Amino acid sequence: GQAMRLSVQVHPYAGNRRMLLSRDITAVEQAEAMRRDFVANVSHEIRTPLTVLAGFVETLQNLPLDAEERARYLALMAQQSHRMETLVNDLLTLSRLEGSAAPTLSQWTRVRALVAQCEDEGRGLSSRLAPSAGHRLSFSVEGDVEIAGVPTELQSAMSNLLSNAIRYTPGGGEVTVTWRALPDGRGEYAVRDSGPGIAAEHIPRLTERFYRVDRSRSRETGGTGLGLAIVKHIAQRHGAELRIESTLGTGSRFAIVFPVTRLRPARVAAGQVA
Ligand code: ADP
Repeated sequence: GQAMRLSVQVHPYAGNRRMLLSRDITAVEQAEAMRRDFVANVSHEIRTPLTVLAGFVETLQNLPLDAEERARYLALMAQQSHRMETLVNDLLTLSRLEGSAAPTLSQWTRVRALVAQCEDEGRGLSSRLAPSAGHRLSFSVEGDVEIAGVPTELQSAMSNLLSNAIRYTPGGGEVTVTWRALPDGRGEYAVRDSGPGIAAEHIPRLTERFYRVDRSRSRETGGTGLGLAIVKHIAQRHGAELRIESTLGTGSRFAIVFPVTRLRPARVAAGQVA
């Protein structure tokens, strides 16, 4: 704010000056309002599990419970602690991402390895969330390449989109993960699901911190509301673009499109078939 005001004062035209000044103040006010919203959201998100935890502690202290009941309460308490831990971890991840420079071209990770890790995690998550019906999961890599960036970040962005697809798609549904080269040489990682879909008006807001279409569904499946904000940050830092398409009642498709400059052919080890 300070620097901008100074430059405004040396502007020779009074009419423009007022315009610039008011625009400056609006931006400052908006930033301030966003910060307040964010703090209010974080406080609320932390307070909810804390209140639940405190309630359970009180119950354990005051009620004579048998071993089975105690175990049930302790399990619920562990769940709430875990939820707070996830939230704080996501917040730390976001603030680290916001404060650091774009990764250089010094570290390369194979797409096939990233997708293989997604597959492991996805199958695990699906069998936990939909133990009987499961999901019809499929994974394919067309034209394996290497991506330049931070391996843990790339993995986390890719896994996050898959975990959302599985979490929001009821058991029995279909989730398809693909990597392919686009005609212009860019590389696209995409996750398509046959879940509930998202109404058009929500789509532009999905990457806002704590924005959720259905708060209770998100909580039920362990969501913090920060996942897509993190994915978007990671994509941006890698010069990539996050694309979201969805049709209510049909399903969604989330894709990360990587620029040619961050891709190179996968090296084939001796004796290995590409
Ligand atoms: P959350 O932790 O709530 O999943 P995200 O930032 O990952 O937070 O996603 C934001 C919101 O976008 C979710 O709460 C959900 O409403 C919606 N969403 C994300 N992925 C999907 C999907 N595959 N299908 C339907 N809705 C989704």
